[in-house]
Amino acid sequence: MRLKLLAAALTAAAATLTSTTSAQAGHSWGSYHWARTANPFTLKLGDNLASGWKSYLGTASNDWSQSSVLNTTVVTGQSNNNCRATSGRVEVCNRTYGNNGWLGLASISANGTHITSGTVKVNDTYFNTATYNSPSWKTLVMCQEVGHTFGLAHQDEGQTNPNLGTCMDYTNNPDGPPSNLHPNAHDFTQLESIYAHLDSTSTVDHSAAVPTVGNSKASWGKRVARSAHGDTYVRDFGKGSKVITFVIWAG
Ligand SMILES: [Zn+2]
Ligand SMILES: [Zn+2]
Repeated sequence: MRLKLLAAALTAAAATLTSTTSAQAGHSWGSYHWARTANPFTLKLGDNLASGWKSYLGTASNDWSQSSVLNTTVVTGQSNNNCRATSGRVEVCNRTYGNNGWLGLASISANGTHITSGTVKVNDTYFNTATYNSPSWKTLVMCQEVGHTFGLAHQDEGQTNPNLGTCMDYTNNPDGPPSNLHPNAHDFTQLESIYAHLDSTSTVDHSAAVPTVGNSKASWGKRVARSAHGDTYVRDFGKGSKVITFVIWAG
């Protein structure tokens, strides 16, 4: 009995350690970053969105541009319907992707640790339902998925604990209090940490072939982080080329 309790305590300690580590975006997933030769750098967010979504991308772009290390600018999208990744930038898309379980999906392709492209998809199959058809849910999910394309992970993957006041936190109630609709100071600190060094080359606006994954779990590779509201997958394409997919599940 005593041994069992100890084992349980050790497991709990290990779980705490794991969640602490995964909360430190800059040090786990955060080793993935856009290569650039100077800060702040400007990342293009390609708008492939229907009119009803455009303002949410505008809000996310403004929010993240408060960072001292990066700016984002919304430009005309290049991938219309299929949201295929475009090298050197991020493509943002909405569509009724079906009852596949996910509310939002962010993928980054990386060469070594350098991000070479990003995609954000929001699933209208769920956003058209009463539960998610609200400015709050749309604001949170767009903010979080765009945040992933910089290399940021979640601050916290619990569902029942209180809101942390950042869109990089899972929640059952985006409005809180505190509200999880926008980034918080901790996210900006994480970005400063991820982008503290400079590179001799740039992947921003760089043109090269990039690997891409599809809309189904089967194409995302190995699951490397798991929680009730979202998971992270990595698919290895070989020769240092990977795609990391962050999914936020509906309901
Ligand atoms: Zn670098
Ligand atoms: Zn996420």
